[in-house]
Amino acid sequence: MAKELFAIFGNPVSHSKSPLMHNLAFKGLDFDGCYTRYRLEDGEKLKESFFSLGLKGINITVPHKEHAYEACDILDPFAKKVGAVNTIVEKEGKLYGYNTDAPGFLKAISEFTEVKTVLFLGAGGTAQSTSTILKDEGYEVTLLNRSAPRLEKYKKEGFDTYTFDNFKPSEYDLVINMTSAGLEDDSLPAPKEILSYIIPKSKACIDVIYGKETPFLKLAKSYNKPTKDGSDMLLYQGIIAFEYFTNHTYSFHDIKEYMKKTFE
Ligand code: NDP
Repeated sequence: MAKELFAIFGNPVSHSKSPLMHNLAFKGLDFDGCYTRYRLEDGEKLKESFFSLGLKGINITVPHKEHAYEACDILDPFAKKVGAVNTIVEKEGKLYGYNTDAPGFLKAISEFTEVKTVLFLGAGGTAQSTSTILKDEGYEVTLLNRSAPRLEKYKKEGFDTYTFDNFKPSEYDLVINMTSAGLEDDSLPAPKEILSYIIPKSKACIDVIYGKETPFLKLAKSYNKPTKDGSDMLLYQGIIAFEYFTNHTYSFHDIKEYMKKTFE
């Protein structure tokens, strides 16, 4: 079989760990594939670029997940529901679109058992698909965001939503930082008075940011709470994408064995 080509499309894309993750798994599993990165400036050109590069599959990161959704011929039902695609596979000239961010996130938090209520700090793109999958799975999700505009669509979908000004705190089993606060600065995702009230009442705190201990996770640790960063979410969305890329030839466990070396 000729080597199959894969890529991550985004802008910027130079920081992405996806090429390393997938190439480690290709090598370890002896799959004849190669994964590269491609900085796509114009999201409207996603489909054209996919075919002109001769690709078999791609992952899509910020800011092109909606463009990826538009580019697909066939959508997986969950991707269709959330309007965001992060994995595309070509089969017989047609583009099939999936969202692996949300199931990856669900798997990453599954180690926290007896969880019913979840507070999302943030309401951006990542919160969109992950809040939907949690709701589908029966969790009660509340969103707290810095400003009101992004909360509108969540309110319409029946979520409890608050800004810092009108927040009426309750007890939440999990508190999850879904913002980019702490990614490139030292800011907390919400005012310290709010966090100091809700974190002590929680069972665990999670950050979707990976590769560093954010101020949010530091604060959670100061209350002796179990914490988790975004590495597993990243790893698991990659494993699920790899399953689609290779048509479910390998088990989740076997893919993980090689892909996890990215984080060692
Ligand atoms: P978006 O740009 O779509 O949304 C950003 C959100 O963060 C908004 O709710 C925004 O609030 C809020 N925000 C930004 N800065 C601050 C701040 N200083 N204080 C409080 N709130 C703030 O981002 P994404 O959803 O795409 O990404 C969010 C995070 O998720 C990023 O850190 C990204 O790295 C991470 N991520 C991790 C993944 C993983 O696999 N682990 C996968 C994808 C993303 P407002 O509406 O008021 O502007």
